[in-house]
Amino acid sequence: MAGPALVLRPGRERSLALRHPWVFSGAVDRVTGDPGTGDTVALVGADGAWLASAAYSPASQIRARVWSFTVGATIDDAFIRRAVERAAAARAPMLDARHTAARLVHGESDGLPGVIADRYGDVVVLQCLAAGAERWRAALVAALAALPGVRCVYERSDAEVRALEGLPPRTGPLAGHLPPAVAILEDGIAYRVDPVAGQKTGFFLDQRDNRRLVRELAHERRTLNAFCYTGGFTLAALAGGAASVASIDSSGDALALARENLARNPALPAAAATWVEADAFADLRRLRNDGAVFDLVVLDPPKFAPTAAHAQRAARAYKDVNLLAFKLLAPGGLLLTFSCSGGISADLFRKIVAGAALDAGADGQVLRTLGAAPDHPVALAFPEGEYLKGLLVRKV
Ligand code: SAH
Repeated sequence: MAGPALVLRPGRERSLALRHPWVFSGAVDRVTGDPGTGDTVALVGADGAWLASAAYSPASQIRARVWSFTVGATIDDAFIRRAVERAAAARAPMLDARHTAARLVHGESDGLPGVIADRYGDVVVLQCLAAGAERWRAALVAALAALPGVRCVYERSDAEVRALEGLPPRTGPLAGHLPPAVAILEDGIAYRVDPVAGQKTGFFLDQRDNRRLVRELAHERRTLNAFCYTGGFTLAALAGGAASVASIDSSGDALALARENLARNPALPAAAATWVEADAFADLRRLRNDGAVFDLVVLDPPKFAPTAAHAQRAARAYKDVNLLAFKLLAPGGLLLTFSCSGGISADLFRKIVAGAALDAGADGQVLRTLGAAPDHPVALAFPEGEYLKGLLVRKV
């Protein structure tokens, strides 16, 4: 076998046979050929059979991430470019005159483990979140910068998961110049995105279809948007004719941009919006004590459980906010409730929401199960890609 290899323990090739792209440290029997961080290695079964080409990550519990299951595939700049082009081409139907932003590359599910690329108009924001992604940064940047209409590639590789790969945070321009203001349209609504200081890459593109749903549901409803960030669901509700929208976030910066975003859309009724900078847990409690009532509540909290180890504490937090939301809803009111925690399964999330309704003395009906928009595809072999779960619940 030419080149470095990871030889697996007997029986540990099973997940690779199912085309799951991760090899955990415990599955590795030995490393041959002294590969460096991010180098391409062959994954080899205990019987010596070649299984896949993968990126080696010696610091991480996820010791290797598969680039290709094809025998003889060469992992080089051209391989990376083809994968980026394939992923970007799949998003072309999702970009049009009313939608100028989409996730172009969604990591493992696009065959590019650890690579996230979000397009905001002519700017692409790149996150390299694993050793292999880091190793091929230059090829990724070249491929993204060569996409039609892209004028800047900006890096936001400052997510905490990089530490697990032994990688320091990295941010800054990688190709071209970042324009002073990055503006997008989503469903015809204008937003400014801050790729430099915003959360993640600047905007939560995964909620695009759910913001559309809120727009459809909001008509004449008194709406509450907790964890509003830069106002995505707020503006969608206003566009849908909400009677009023109260928005809560603990980040003053996010709220400042949310207000600015509302001002960017003069057709929306700004007088119907109120903004509160507060801890949502405390503010929902205050609203309940004040006897406030809503017809539509959106709960899109941050990741309380990044991994299964945090699940219990996270479950309590989810239950707490959902319980308060049920209490604030009028009979017949609608709750859109989300979890973006990898450590909370869709099943567990539904149980938490059911428990919250029970404790609030409310009955609920699930009208729809919700997830991320299709620019965040989930490879069938990679269920971990399905991090965003949501429910549309009607309070009976
Ligand atoms: N729904 C938003 C994205 C929400 S991201 C959209 O469509 O764009 C989660 C938000 O929760 C962030 O803006 C973060 O600032 C906020 N947040 C985190 N903890 C909070 C807390 N305890 N109370 C209120 N907001 C909080």
